[in-house]
Amino acid sequence: MKTPKPHSKESGKGASTKAVHGGAVRDKGFHSMTTPIVQSATYTFENTAKVIEFLEKKVYGGELDREEYARYGNPSVWSLERRIADLEGAEDAVVYPSGMSAVTSLFLTVLGPGSHIVMTDDCYRRTRQFCETTLNKFGVDTSIVTMGDNEALEAAIVPRKTRFIFTETPTNPYLRVADLERLAELGRRNRAMTLLDTTFATPVNLRPLEYGIDFVMHSATKYFGGHNDVLAGVIAGAAGRIKALKDARGILGNIVDPHQAFLVERGLKTLAVRVRHQNKAALQVAEYLERHPKIERVHYPGLQSHPDHKLACAQMSGFGGVVSFEVAGDIKATSDFIDRLRIPYIAPSLGGTESLIEQPAYFSYYDLSSDERLAVGIKDNLVRFALGIEDAEDIIEDLDASLEQAPARAAVNPA
Ligand SMILES: *Cc1c(COP(=O)(O)O)cnc(C)c1O
Repeated sequence: MKTPKPHSKESGKGASTKAVHGGAVRDKGFHSMTTPIVQSATYTFENTAKVIEFLEKKVYGGELDREEYARYGNPSVWSLERRIADLEGAEDAVVYPSGMSAVTSLFLTVLGPGSHIVMTDDCYRRTRQFCETTLNKFGVDTSIVTMGDNEALEAAIVPRKTRFIFTETPTNPYLRVADLERLAELGRRNRAMTLLDTTFATPVNLRPLEYGIDFVMHSATKYFGGHNDVLAGVIAGAAGRIKALKDARGILGNIVDPHQAFLVERGLKTLAVRVRHQNKAALQVAEYLERHPKIERVHYPGLQSHPDHKLACAQMSGFGGVVSFEVAGDIKATSDFIDRLRIPYIAPSLGGTESLIEQPAYFSYYDLSSDERLAVGIKDNLVRFALGIEDAEDIIEDLDASLEQAPARAAVNPA
């Protein structure tokens, strides 16, 4: 097996140092260790001269160091945005109340009638729905190409029309990995912006901007918040582009609540510690499952059997905390296996302290028939295990006990 890329120090300090010390708006009044939650809907001015001083900067350009009204900004939010930008090696970042809010705002802000998006087929289902329904109504077309088919991706680009090439890495649920150098080059050559959803990787394992990708987005609900207790989303990139998104956010009205921002910032401090633990534990779990006779197949980029293993090793400093696998058996044998587990909670989502498990055939695709699900690549016996921070040995013991009780492979699958 190849070893992952060493942790990058290219942009200064390590991920844990940046996560703890980045950003932080220091409170000079109360000497607070942590960033204060500035719970205010508006901001006051001492006198009219201060109002004019602020407006001069706002209208004619200048570094703004305060806010006027909370829809336009909040110091608790700035601090989080700075910290995330630091971690991504980005000039700036903008935080939203959810991951979906981040991606929909970006598209609404940048795209207009006649423009076109190319995205890969295992992108987050709601993002795809937004493009194919809402954006379509505004005259924006979307082409969906098979993840990993680079020729199809290139062929789908419409010169002067394609504004965005959008993919995720690693993807859900098969953990496919995109070739970022190639993607960035493709974008530049076609004057299309590249957007990468790296929710599953986090900047601890992958920093797409280092490869020349234009925008990186995350559902901060997952690893950034890290405790299954808050929703948020973020986009990071070049300062000018992020400023345009912040201006648009002031109009769209989807600024994140300061308490939400505080929770994400608090979670972020332990991001690198959690993710490095999860990288290690997930690899152990994946290796265990791959050896087990009652498991048909394991999808994890850290395994040599994964189609993108080499690419993952070249780009990532860890393979992440999500392991997908196929139980030898049908939809019922698979759900019985899940129901016998003691540690993971049955729930959608990922990236928190608690392990979560789900059967995609039920969770994200219940509205489709078994055949329709197969057509979009979702098998009935597929399981997605999103590791929390529990000890790998305990997780493996739990899996082992449930598999022990599962019907023998031959009995379920006589063919
Ligand atoms: C959860 C998720 C989203 C959506 O984020 P929310 O915070 O739930 O709105 C987008 N992309 C990926 C990869 C996700 O896992």
